[in-house]
Amino acid sequence: MANSERILLSSPHMSGNEQKYIQEAFDSNWIAPLGSNVTHFEKELAQYTNNKGASVTSSGTAAIHLALACLGVEKGDSVFCSSFTFVASANPALYLGAELTFIDSEPNSWNMSPQALERALFDASLETRLPKAIIVVNLYGQSADMDALLAIADLFGIPIIEDAAESLGAEYKNKKSGTFGKIGIYSFNGNKIITTSGGGALVSDDEELLAKAFFLATQAKDAAPYYQHSLVGYNYRMSNVLAGIGRAQLEVLDERVDKRRAIFQKYYQELNSIEEIHFMPEIEQSKSNRWLTTLVIDPFMTKVTPFEFMDKMNQANIETRLLWKPLQMQPLFKHTKFYKHNERTTAVSEMLFKMGICIPSGSNMTEEEQFRVIDEMKRILVPESQVQLLWKKVQVSPLLVD
Ligand SMILES: *Cc1c(COP(=O)(O)O)cnc(C)c1O
Repeated sequence: MANSERILLSSPHMSGNEQKYIQEAFDSNWIAPLGSNVTHFEKELAQYTNNKGASVTSSGTAAIHLALACLGVEKGDSVFCSSFTFVASANPALYLGAELTFIDSEPNSWNMSPQALERALFDASLETRLPKAIIVVNLYGQSADMDALLAIADLFGIPIIEDAAESLGAEYKNKKSGTFGKIGIYSFNGNKIITTSGGGALVSDDEELLAKAFFLATQAKDAAPYYQHSLVGYNYRMSNVLAGIGRAQLEVLDERVDKRRAIFQKYYQELNSIEEIHFMPEIEQSKSNRWLTTLVIDPFMTKVTPFEFMDKMNQANIETRLLWKPLQMQPLFKHTKFYKHNERTTAVSEMLFKMGICIPSGSNMTEEEQFRVIDEMKRILVPESQVQLLWKKVQVSPLLVD
């Protein structure tokens, strides 16, 4: 431990071209939330995801806030959201004074359960209180079962916002993740697959909606020769300097996806024979970006809890993390309605939280570092064989003899 460097879960990985675009911003003196890097980054992102347009923002959270506002979410409205996610998926609904309902995961994708969504929408329609939007999260780089979710949402006429903060570059049925709902959002936070140090984006095929997102992101200025405002707006545009980082990062996104998938493959190859663990599955006809390699430790097979595992890895100077604590378990959401995948069993998201762990997956991790992680995991998870136990006795016994 003393002489080994800490291995992080996922750290920023620059391509080398970032400085060039940042220099352009300095040379033109566009150190502002507008300028050619912003314009280009939006165009390039829209092209990459095959959307009509994109609006880049100061964070992924800001993009979700704008998406909800664009769909007309107001105080007292209802919004549905995946329960197994980072709090940033749900917080913007609270900013707008909306009331949340959480939808559990299903075991195949770990993402939103179509069954639970159907029950929740059915109940809401009986109460004539349908949600204004459904936020579907694609966790750890894997797409949710979008076909099934869209079919149900369409039946009730409710727009989907895809929180693709963790799944940029992933695909579902040969289409980029984040392009299935009415609006998709991405994050360029420091630990995401590509980063602008901080930032986000909103994408859509609806040009009117994109114009509205821009309007709201720039303080909702009316078309008047002076500063006139009729609606509440926000200051959410990405800066031209950071958009420069984004342009260079987008150029290497596919490489980053390949690298993260290769890292997953190596873990799988080296560790999948350990019966005590199960890796996150990849659903059919989809391509995860494997942002983080995640797995569950079977509590019936081993006594090592995820928390103990994390502690032991930490002692070896390796960062690991528990899976997201589901939102229905958060004190902040104590009184929030929640629909389980199966009414008669424990929530899937709660099972995953109790059993799961994320392991280092950064695209700049070396092979040597990955083997350090693998060796440590084997040491922690594989029960000591009889031979090893015997060997230990032989070693220890002299100390036991008085
Ligand atoms: C990172 C993340 C966000 C928020 O993005 P920021 O850019 O950090 O605001 C939203 N949802 C999910 C699922 C995330 O992982």
